[in-house]
Formats: sequence, structure tokens, C-alpha cells
Amino acid sequence: MGRLVKRLLLLLLCPIWLYAADPLSPRIANYEIKANFNPTAKTIEGEETITWTIEGDNPLPSLQFHLYWNAFRDGKSTYMREAARASQPDEPPEAGSIEITSLTLDGEELAPLGRFIHPDDSNVEDRTVEEFPLEDALDPNQTVVLHIRFKSKFPALIARAGYERDFFMAGQWFPKIGVRQRDLWNTHQYHLNSEFFADFGTYRVTLTLPTAYIVAASGDLVSTTTAGGQRTLIYESDDVHDFAWSAWTKFRRAEDHWRGVRIELYYPPEHTDAVRHIEAAKATLAWFDRNIGSYPYPRLVIVDCPEWAAEAGGMEYPTLVTTVMPPPAFMWRRESEVVTIHEVGHQYFYGMLASNEFEEAWLDEGINSYTESAITDEIFGRRSSWDSLGPLRGSDAGYNEMPGFLARPVTDLVVQPSWRYASPASYQVSSYSRPLFLLRTAEELLGREAMYRGLRFYFEHWKFKHPTTRDFLAAMKEGSRQDLGWYFQQVLYTTHWLDYGIEGIHTDGNENWVRVLRTGEIEMPVELTVHFEGQPDRKLFWTGSEGWHDFYLQSAAPISWAAITTHAMDANPTDNSYAPQTNPAGGRKLAGLWTFLVQHLLEIAAWLV
Ligand SMILES: [Zn+2]
Repeated sequence: MGRLVKRLLLLLLCPIWLYAADPLSPRIANYEIKANFNPTAKTIEGEETITWTIEGDNPLPSLQFHLYWNAFRDGKSTYMREAARASQPDEPPEAGSIEITSLTLDGEELAPLGRFIHPDDSNVEDRTVEEFPLEDALDPNQTVVLHIRFKSKFPALIARAGYERDFFMAGQWFPKIGVRQRDLWNTHQYHLNSEFFADFGTYRVTLTLPTAYIVAASGDLVSTTTAGGQRTLIYESDDVHDFAWSAWTKFRRAEDHWRGVRIELYYPPEHTDAVRHIEAAKATLAWFDRNIGSYPYPRLVIVDCPEWAAEAGGMEYPTLVTTVMPPPAFMWRRESEVVTIHEVGHQYFYGMLASNEFEEAWLDEGINSYTESAITDEIFGRRSSWDSLGPLRGSDAGYNEMPGFLARPVTDLVVQPSWRYASPASYQVSSYSRPLFLLRTAEELLGREAMYRGLRFYFEHWKFKHPTTRDFLAAMKEGSRQDLGWYFQQVLYTTHWLDYGIEGIHTDGNENWVRVLRTGEIEMPVELTVHFEGQPDRKLFWTGSEGWHDFYLQSAAPISWAAITTHAMDANPTDNSYAPQTNPAGGRKLAGLWTFLVQHLLEIAAWLV
């Protein structure tokens, strides 16, 4: 059979949706899922057809699947054991699970051969990755069709999936094939700190459930039929690496548009100003469009979770995000906007760039935290992007992220696998807040225009390709046309801290010495500004590489104040300015300390609500 004939035949045999529209991504793992959802039993019974392309040079000896909800079967999973070690509950609130009951390839049943593997640790009880050995290895660079039957049981809400009352959040709810890279499976277990990694493809999901339920799903609804108290919904979504949905009997629905994107909002009846989420989403799409790249999908679905199901809030799936509202007494807080902006931003770093979240979470969470704070600063003002109630003001970066960053409970590297962190707090600092501040400092060094040019280049070059940190650094260098390798090496691949400060000023007649100390390990060029009474400011530079440096200045007039450039990464900015006598600069120093204290107080207040 000729190649062309073969291809034409394949076209006729394969579902037409696989070939509709120009692909944005390499469509490696394409899913057709038929799922029966039983809200009384909290179960899904499903059939799944995966049309999957085997990448690589060598024959494929086995198939591997993620069964994420098996993390919640009992307290023996790696996820729950890691939770116990982090002083969190060591048992799921109510068990959840996924089971592959049948897997066929070319009519051959492989399910009885399935065995659970644990590539990341020695926990033989973990069932989140299942491997099926193949009797005859499959040749690479061919497309195979896998037929699966599965049963899933919703856990009580945990890790932003599961159910509470009659609210259901179905994330990671079906068996997902692992990713092949360099002839090896890249299939990690579900960990306490880790998120996910999957190949792009097309999804056609048929969901059958009682008519009383309203569904929010990450696809375009292409068909609805009702029969015998059951509704069957068919959704399609292309060039994505996951499909999620939520169902609840009480969802209200609102719809809006931003350019060609349909924004669907599902919210609880009592959230009368849930439209805030739509405004935040529009602002985020506009910011990314202007600065990073365009959003190519026809839809963006927002699920605003009820308070009693807030555990499901603050999560991203391709073209669907979950978010929250602050308690009614705290509606002045921008929490709802900040969470929505963060989750919509994930559409870029998690959704389209799709780096390996198990191995390099910062590429998603960290860069996304940086853009989140840039967007919130732009929309709400740099000093009030988190709180704005009379004098109570706090920025998203300064108040929401900085206390965790400065507390640095345990110091791990930014670039390391998510399950190798000393604690969830350390993972949080290294994956979210440290990257936010280190990228802000990169922006200070490059200039905003060059920074955004670098990010835009990175996005355009690597979207739909699973970039690594090395790819990010090379893209930033090429895109910004400046080499910050010396800086990124220190902040990403060491646990070092940035801290410079002015120790004091010594004056002897017309001679002055300003002493600057480097108390952190990170080396950065330092710019000192000195103000003499009645004279223009003088600027001086130091490479910043020794432990200390004395700047020598001659002047008949006395020094009013001296200040070094404060970078966002600076661990203690309160000693970056110095005034020999009481004057406005001293006031500024006090104000800096005051802001610092207020941020900590606000953080404590946040824990109380
Ligand atoms: Zn996030």
C-alpha cells in the first residue's frame, strides 16, 4: 500500500475531529472518553480511546499510565506518606481511586499484566503509576490506538479534586498516558508537592449525568441530548494536555467575551459580584496579549467555588480555572482577582508551554507568580494590589508573597524536583516567591522592555514544546539580547541570598567614606547615590564582589544621605539607605521598616481568617 493511500485510509478511519483545524501542537496523545457520572455513588465509569504516537528511536517495551486518584486510596500512598511527614493528615478524608479494568491494543487484553511501579521512591504501596509490559515491543514513530475501560471514585475534596455535598470537581479523573522522552518514560508518581505533566492532543469527552446537574467543562459543548432523567453532553477541546470538569446542582452561569474568546463563569448563587472574576480574566488576557503572546483557544471557563468547597479553588486546567471569593467580611481584599489572575496566567506557562511540573515547577508557578504580581500592580496600583481598605494597603508581591520569601523556612534550590523539597513551605518559597523576586530583579537589571521581549521570545519559541530551565535561560538571553547568565546561575542553582547594606558613613573634615557591606553570598554590581546638601547627587559603582567596600568622597558640604540600589531580591532592604542626621532620608528608612512590619502583621491577620 502506498504511503498516500495509507494516510488517506487512516484519515477515513480516524475520527474527523483529529484532523479538524490546523494543529497548534504536536497532537501526541488524543483522547476520546465516554464517561457515566453517578453523583450518588460518587463514581465515574468510563471508556477511553487514546490515539497515541510513539516518539523515539527504539522499540517501546511497555505502556505507563498515571492513575492520580489512587493517591487518595488510603494512607499508604506516597502522597499521603509525604503529607504525614509534613504534619498534615495522613489519611484521605474519604477514599478516592482510579482503576483500569481493561486495556486492549490490537484486540489483545493487557489489563491482567498491569503492575504498579514507583519510579521516584521505594514505596511499593503506591498505585499512582501503572505499567503494562508488552510481549512484542512496538516500533517507534507509529500511531497506535489503545482502548481502556476505567472506574473512578471521587475522593472527598483533597488536592483540589473530589466532592463536597453535591459539588464535584473532576480534575485528574481518568487514566492518563505518560510522556516518552528520549526513549524513556517520564512518568512520576503523584506527590504532595507535585503537579502534572502530559503530552498535547485533542479531546472529545462524552459525559452522561443526571439532568439536575449543571456542568462547567474545559471544552466546547457540541451536543446535548436528554433521555430518562439523564443528560449527555459532548465536549471538544484541541491542542491541550488535560480535560477537567465540575458539576453542581446550584451553579449560576454568566457569559462574556474578550475579543474572540468566550468567557464562561460558573458561580454560587450567593456570589452576587462574581463578575469580578470575568473582569480579572479579561485584564489578564489583555496583559498577556500585549506583553507575551496571544491566547489561541476559543474559550476560558472560570469556576468560582462555594466557600465550603474552597479546597477545589485556585487550580488550573487547560482553558478552565477554579477560583475563590474571600469571606464576605473581607470583600475589600483582592484575593478573588489575584487568584483568578494567577490561574488564568497558568494558561501560558502550564497550559501552552507545559514544562514538566514534577521536575521544574518554578517554570510554571514561579514565572506565573512574577507575571501575576506585574498584572495586579498594573491594574490595582503597586501599593494596593492585595489589600485596599483605607490605610490598610498591601501589594500582592510585598504582602502576599514577601513574608514567605523572607521567612525562608528551609532553603532548597529553585530548580529541583518537587518531591525533593524539605517541606511544603520550602517548595512554596522556591517555586513561587523566590522566583517572583528573582525575576523582578532580572527585570531591574535588564529593563522592563528587554525583560518582556525575552519572555515573549521564550513563549513564541517554546509554546507546545515542554521547555526546560536551560531552554528558558537561552531564550531569555536571545530575546532580551542581554546575558544574565552570571545572575541566573547564582539565584537558580545555589541557595544563596542577596543582601547589601550601608554600614555607616565616616566623615573627617572634607573627606567622607561610605561603607557598604555584602552580607549575602550573591554578588551583584552596586550603585551608590550620595546626596550632599545643596549639591547634585553623586553616583558611584562597585562590582559588589568583595565582602565590603569603602566609597571615598571629598566635599566641603556635609552628606545628607546615601543609598544603594534596592533590588527586589534584597533580603533586608531596611539598611539600604543611611542618613548621618535626622532628615527625610532617615524618615524613609523608618518608613521602610514600618512597611516591613505592617506586611508581617497583615500576614498574621491573613492566617486568622
Ligand atoms: Zn499556580
